[in-house]
Amino acid sequence: MKSAEAPDASNAFQLLPSVDELLRTDAAKKIAGESGAKHLTMLARGVAAEARARIAAKERRAHSRASLLAEMERLLENAWAAERLTALRRVINATGVIIHTNLGRAPLSDAARRAIVEASGYCSLEYDLETGKRGKRGGRAEILLAELTGAESALIVNNCAAAAYLVLSVLASGGEAVISRGELVEIGGDFRVPDVLAQSGTALKEVGTTNRTKLADYEKAIGDSTRLLLKVHPSNYRITGFTAVPGIAELAELAHSKGLFLYEDAGSGALIDLGRYGLGDEPLISSSIAAGADVVTFSGDKLLGASQAGLIVGKREIVRRLRKHPLYRVLRADKLAYASLEATLEVYRRETASDEIPVLKMLAMTKEQIGKRAGLFIERLGENANLYTKLIDGKSVIGGGAAPAVQPETVLITLEISGLSADELEQKLRVSEPPVIARIENDLVVLDLRTVNQKEEEELVTLIAAISK
Ligand SMILES: *Cc1c(COP(=O)(O)O)cnc(C)c1O
Repeated sequence: MKSAEAPDASNAFQLLPSVDELLRTDAAKKIAGESGAKHLTMLARGVAAEARARIAAKERRAHSRASLLAEMERLLENAWAAERLTALRRVINATGVIIHTNLGRAPLSDAARRAIVEASGYCSLEYDLETGKRGKRGGRAEILLAELTGAESALIVNNCAAAAYLVLSVLASGGEAVISRGELVEIGGDFRVPDVLAQSGTALKEVGTTNRTKLADYEKAIGDSTRLLLKVHPSNYRITGFTAVPGIAELAELAHSKGLFLYEDAGSGALIDLGRYGLGDEPLISSSIAAGADVVTFSGDKLLGASQAGLIVGKREIVRRLRKHPLYRVLRADKLAYASLEATLEVYRRETASDEIPVLKMLAMTKEQIGKRAGLFIERLGENANLYTKLIDGKSVIGGGAAPAVQPETVLITLEISGLSADELEQKLRVSEPPVIARIENDLVVLDLRTVNQKEEEELVTLIAAISK
């Protein structure tokens, strides 16, 4: 005879609470306000199916209806919590990767954040307040961009990939673009220079070798169907050693002597000289324009420090053609992107970028400054028998496909909590409120305060205390 508290599966099925019963529980009522009733019912059905499957698989021996219901409530809470984690959330970036593409690239300046809030209702996006007539979308951001880069004109689209696609489609489609073999790069999973060329209907004419390309290589390749010379910044990839490529001025001179355009995809690009941050080889957009590039594209949310946008600067006639093309309408940017960009460009024009743009402030932090903050941080964590911390030397990362060879020195905080492996601790931080994204190095969880806002430190102390309690 079986004992009374271990009924067989068919008994357990009879004990299983209904979806309606589950929906009447406190757990369900709490979730309903956030999820909506229909979605909650869907989740509850999923939970009931899971409970049934567990019984069928004999994973679960039902003791009573109440215990089954309690378990289903827990499953429902877990299902909702798991779904909440997929929402777009603010996170604390403790990885030390400054332009972290998976974490939203550049964090915005206060000025840009204010501008986004301001533009989130009705705003003068395409409205001229002086005349009361229709205005030009993003007109002011374009004027600022042209002014800051010395270009005749500027245009803004959704991202740099869109900018490259637009420029190639309008200027080179049906013809050929000449590019060095060393610049046929992949910037990250979904942006490969040869693919963008192909999509735009431009034939690729590769010249030179991976490490060395001469001006004469370009010259020999120019033929009747050549439309432009294309220069692409290798971004997250560097060829060092025995290398050579012609500069913008030489390429521009060659292009113009043959009646062609020179187009540079500068990738991240810089509006001010970043040499003081160790990023001297990031192309300065104003230098490219001054050296004769006819059109240059770059990203809004990399080193520039604004939100996602593709920035195009160059000759008035080229920009006019780009704006007129139907593709421009397809690729145009959103009002919030213009708001953030305009405010960020104002910061550059005020010449206060190094004090106001978070990306630049993080780049400027010295190892000593970070070490001091890390020391104070550990003090604030206080005495805790479960928690073991240490300061070690390490490197931060620029990220966003910029300057892969530059790794700013930093001081890392190692975190160990008794009873938790490094993977478990990293996971606990990741699902905390707000989520904290840390790195694991040599089997230890490490925090790099370079990318943690000073205002977030208190939160981080509280979270770590809660996990190690
Ligand atoms: C990053 C990058 C791009 C893509 O820019 P998005 O703004 O992400 O679309 C294109 N070209 C180069 C050279 C880049 O570095």
